[in-house]
Amino acid sequence: MSGKETMETKTEEKLSFQAEVSRLLDIVANSLYSNKEIFLRELISNASDACDRLRYAALTEPELLAGDPDFKIRLASDSKAKTLTIADNGIGMNRDEMIGNLGTIARSGTAAFVSELESQKEEKAKGKSKNGGANLIGKFGVGFYSAFMVAGKVEVTSRKAGEDHAWVWTSDGKGDFTISAADPEALDMARGTRIVLSMKKDAAEFLDPARLRGIVKTYSDHVAIPVVMVEGEKEDMLNSASAIWRRAKSEVTDEQYTEFYHHVAHAMDDPWLRLHFKVEGTIEYSGLLYVPASQPFDLFAPERRHGVKLYVKRIFITDDCADLVPPYLRFLRGVIDTEDLALNISREMLQSHPVLAKIRGAVTKRVLKELKKQADKQPEDYAKFWENFGAVLKEGLYEDAGQREILTELARFASTKSDGLTSLNDYVERMAEGQDEIYYISGEDADAVRRSPHLEGFEAKGIEVLLLSDPVDEFWIPSIASFKDKAFKSVTRGGVDLSGFNVKEKDQDAEADTETAAPGMDTLVAFLKLALKDAVKDVRRSERLTGSPVCLIADEGDMDMHLERLLKQHRQIDTASKRVLEINPKHSLIRSLSQRLENKEATDDGAEAALDDAAWLLLDQARILEGEAVPDPAAFARRLTAIVERGFGA
Ligand code: ADP
Ligand code: MG
Repeated sequence: MSGKETMETKTEEKLSFQAEVSRLLDIVANSLYSNKEIFLRELISNASDACDRLRYAALTEPELLAGDPDFKIRLASDSKAKTLTIADNGIGMNRDEMIGNLGTIARSGTAAFVSELESQKEEKAKGKSKNGGANLIGKFGVGFYSAFMVAGKVEVTSRKAGEDHAWVWTSDGKGDFTISAADPEALDMARGTRIVLSMKKDAAEFLDPARLRGIVKTYSDHVAIPVVMVEGEKEDMLNSASAIWRRAKSEVTDEQYTEFYHHVAHAMDDPWLRLHFKVEGTIEYSGLLYVPASQPFDLFAPERRHGVKLYVKRIFITDDCADLVPPYLRFLRGVIDTEDLALNISREMLQSHPVLAKIRGAVTKRVLKELKKQADKQPEDYAKFWENFGAVLKEGLYEDAGQREILTELARFASTKSDGLTSLNDYVERMAEGQDEIYYISGEDADAVRRSPHLEGFEAKGIEVLLLSDPVDEFWIPSIASFKDKAFKSVTRGGVDLSGFNVKEKDQDAEADTETAAPGMDTLVAFLKLALKDAVKDVRRSERLTGSPVCLIADEGDMDMHLERLLKQHRQIDTASKRVLEINPKHSLIRSLSQRLENKEATDDGAEAALDDAAWLLLDQARILEGEAVPDPAAFARRLTAIVERGFGA
């Protein structure tokens, strides 16, 4: 796709949409929105972004505004031709940008998103789901492509500020688009973008100026660039065109706040929380920030866009300022506007700028305080926020020591004692008598963690264990180490001492049995050590098991098993630590094994082999429960077969 060559040699070139775009367009055009009117919001939003970007570029290159300094978004409808035109004198696009921006979806996670959408659509067709993807697409926003909800054909003519050529892009939204050079005169502006929608029959309502006026008022009133309706010679303004974040709170309605969120966050859901503030003092700034109600698709993608835009004296500077909010608040969306930076500040100078550092510190405090308020006031609602963004917020526990205290108060965890989430404070309040450690277990999957055999002894003694299943948990725990002087302790490690705690009543019989079972155990432990040799670090009697025969633990000073798996997945390490095999002296299988061992002389020749098989099978079973692979599946199968055969007397 070399631009120059085709420009000279071809008048028109036909190109295909990226596969995901085609599929998305199909879904959008045929089955999605009940409120088609939002296409206008999307196109006006893009026009306003284009003006913002040019205004920023013109700070250093004023000649880009040549002869046309006043930004404007113009709407015009032609009821005879059945077209609606949306034009802006913003930054415009050149040929390559048109192909890239209007033919692909650059956002990460797109492929996964589209297939998810399609499966929901299929479910709708089968009657299994009512909305067929409408919820999902609400999280994503189809932006420019929403034009195809109302238009059978879309023509985009654009000329980039400072460039000589104009280009026309056209498509009927079905698989491909064409691009060709346009006569620059055809665009009656020195620069910018004009979009002409040839309306579908069932979208004729959007040719009615009164209807268009209403839509702009509803969805785009906050847009800071004037949106005007052109009727004959007349132009009249449809929006208030003032920066919403600079207005007094009393002058902004909830609807306006929400619409601004849709615009600034490129999102379609409703915000979960908003903060609107103005700070005067040594540094002056105002902000309008939102926490989304749902998790964006690219929350964990490193290359994702930053969500908070920086403005200086109402002029958009950048949406790519990493220093504006800390990474652990990257779910925030919105605007921060300050008086205290120079307008012509370069993006490089923004890096670790002291004014930004001050703003970041203060905004972070403000946001965390507000989250705390929500957590105290509406715990159930806060739990939803936590499900969405808790894993991100927890990064702050090791990244930002200054905010650690409030972050530990904000953190929520699944636990063996509650169906919902619990705070560390509540956990500490519920701690058993004599308990001075906070017990936790971590793993990749919340359900698997909940079923782990390591929890059995804690369950029997009524001791609560926090269930952690976010990868980030392995990183903050070692860095904060304790909460209210109670150390965090993994239940999958050695050195956990449960002997001081009393067993719950119903389990007392089982406990009594242990004593009587104890004598033969030493022989069994010795035998297992000998049989398994280098495969384990040690074999020990377990205090933490009640229902399962065996489990693996990490020895006191060794790396946590889950952390080691994580690091291996990320190829940070390639060696595995040896584990300790714990056996449950109360378990009937373990007891009969130890009896077998005592009576070995008296039994047949196969006894030796059977005991050896049992030893290895116990180890493999413990590995499987731990979510680890069995290193020698063939041997595992052979031993299992042999044991089962013996069991059936074969
Ligand atoms: P988003 O606005 O979330 O980036 P869209 O699908 O709405 O996604 O737009 C895709 C891209 O197309 C924009 O990011 C922008 O680069 C470009 N674009 C769309 N409309 C215009 C316009 N009027 N002027 C300049 N560029 C535009
Ligand atoms: Mg857009």
